[in-house]
Amino acid sequence: MRRKIFTAVALVLYAMIPVVHEVEAQDRLAASHQAEIQRIIVRVRFAFETEANCRNLFSNYQGDPRQTLERATFIYVGEALQPLGFAAATLAGTNQTFIGAGFYQDMRDVDGMATVLIHELMHQQGAGAEIDNYVDNYEQIATACRTRNSAR
Ligand SMILES: [Zn+2]
Repeated sequence: MRRKIFTAVALVLYAMIPVVHEVEAQDRLAASHQAEIQRIIVRVRFAFETEANCRNLFSNYQGDPRQTLERATFIYVGEALQPLGFAAATLAGTNQTFIGAGFYQDMRDVDGMATVLIHELMHQQGAGAEIDNYVDNYEQIATACRTRNSAR
């Protein structure tokens, strides 16, 4: 009897292992988000400081993108954007961008992540659906800001 119970408990524990691993991976991303996003912010700031063409992408929208970057908040939302197929999302005209797990698909791709953030900052500054042929928009950003088109 005791052995049967042990077996049942062991089976339940084995069944939980993949779930536990997934939760740990999530927690790791959530925990590292604040540090990781800073690396990308530094890269974006550098692009704004050094590339006039990069700043000019924002000229259709009011204000300096450097100020938009300084007041921006980037909130980690884990898998929440996955069903929509987005790595990041912004409600146009707000200073809040939601960052999904997909954003951190390749942690080494700082230039690719910088392109995504610049796109989201354009939304923060008021850009709407006109920039959401995002493969084209990412290409524009990558060229103007010397980052990388992560949509390709
Ligand atoms: Zn967009």
